[in-house]
Amino acid sequence: MTETFTGSFTQQEPIPDEAIEAALAVMRHGRLHRYNQAPGEIGEAAQLEQEFAALVGAKYCVAVASGGYAMATALRAAGVGPGDAVLSNAFTLAPVPGAIASLGARPVFVGVAEDLTIDLDDLAAKADQARVLLLSHMRGHICDMDRLMAICDAAGLLVIEDCAHTMGGSWNGVPSGRHGVAGCYSCQTYKHVNSGEGGLLVTDDAELAARAIMLSGSYMLYERHLAAPAPEVFERIRYETPNISGRMDNLRAAILRPQLRHLDAQVPRWNDRYRVLEDGLRGQPGLTVIERPAPEGYVGSSIQFLLLDWAAGQVREVIARCAARGVELKWFGAPEPVAFTSRYDSWRYAEPPRMPDSDRILAGIVDMRVPLTFSLEDCALIARIIRSEVGAVFQGGA
Ligand SMILES: *Cc1c(COP(=O)(O)O)cnc(C)c1O
Repeated sequence: MTETFTGSFTQQEPIPDEAIEAALAVMRHGRLHRYNQAPGEIGEAAQLEQEFAALVGAKYCVAVASGGYAMATALRAAGVGPGDAVLSNAFTLAPVPGAIASLGARPVFVGVAEDLTIDLDDLAAKADQARVLLLSHMRGHICDMDRLMAICDAAGLLVIEDCAHTMGGSWNGVPSGRHGVAGCYSCQTYKHVNSGEGGLLVTDDAELAARAIMLSGSYMLYERHLAAPAPEVFERIRYETPNISGRMDNLRAAILRPQLRHLDAQVPRWNDRYRVLEDGLRGQPGLTVIERPAPEGYVGSSIQFLLLDWAAGQVREVIARCAARGVELKWFGAPEPVAFTSRYDSWRYAEPPRMPDSDRILAGIVDMRVPLTFSLEDCALIARIIRSEVGAVFQGGA
């Protein structure tokens, strides 16, 4: 009997009842704009910022319209401007180089290592080419942050972290987003909390925080923020910082607050599913499992494996055969961008030089979402399907 999977790879869990109630309350009073507060009221957005700052141990937090907006804002608040080079990962999602390009700055790509993290040797070699690194923890893989920070500190490189897939993750016990000068998170539906769209930016740097709040569109109402620096800090920057409107509203914040309270309980649920998939794939000839290092506290909301040095046609065949059995895999080796998946060489506005070592890895990366609507049995079934199709094609001569 040929098994097939009939679940959906894009179906997330429903919004928790508590969050629905909170959203209804905001809609009933109608004060959706974050600065629209009744006398004595503290808005949902301000409370969300305070709670998220406490969760990751940051001094300051600002809630914004998207993860991409958070990154662009962090870069701008750190002083990146037109023409500046910004180092970033060759293996990431399009909004990351897009955030750099939105400032008229220029992404300079750093390669990807076999464990799917940033290639630290390549980073060391390029560290003198920019003042800022926008580090993407792509698909939740966290590199050796101790070594990365040593390289960046030695070169005077400011680190801004893209934690779209590492909200709830850590390195050596330090929450992801807390190694560099700023951390940026996404609250988009496929990430770890879901308000459709949304972003969070955290930092301990008072001036960066004040700039980010002004940039996000606070007008002169910044005193209504709770996770913000003192008014004197704003006095220094309020005339020279533009309003680049990208606030989060109280409705999204209301939906997110209960979800953040549940994040600690969601992480092990993702990781239980991840481990069933990983165990199911391990040992299959031709397929390389990505080993996770002990200091990495990861969130298994997606899983990747390598079909390293396979011919493109055979990777395509595995993907087609899995799709026919209901298993949706994404391939980062495709020459043309497809749906959410694109490669550094698709981002032609950045005029990236070829990176042969990274090309070899990218050509082998196969990626799959792990929504919490999957049961552990679903994950075991999916692993069996992938394994059998990889095995069938591999024996056919990869
Ligand atoms: C989703 C994502 C982003 C951008 O987040 P948005 O909220 O969609 O703008 C950035 N980086 C990575 C790696 C992502 O997956």
